[in-house]
Amino acid sequence: MMKILTATGMFFLGGMMFTACGSEGTNGQEQTAEKEVYQCPMDCEDGKTYDHEGQCPLCEMDLKKIDA
Ligand SMILES: [Zn+2]
Repeated sequence: MMKILTATGMFFLGGMMFTACGSEGTNGQEQTAEKEVYQCPMDCEDGKTYDHEGQCPLCEMDLKKIDA
């Protein structure tokens, strides 16, 4: 009887962990897919990107929207 209870508890905990990990992964993918990325057209910050429109702090050109 104790073995059955232990096995049920392990299964329950395992399911909780699996569900948590699964939801985190899904949320991360959705955020990445919807995220807009902006980058200096001259790339003077070595690939640095921004998540909003603006100007490059180095050359002051308008940031260009790019595909992630
Ligand atoms: Zn720049």
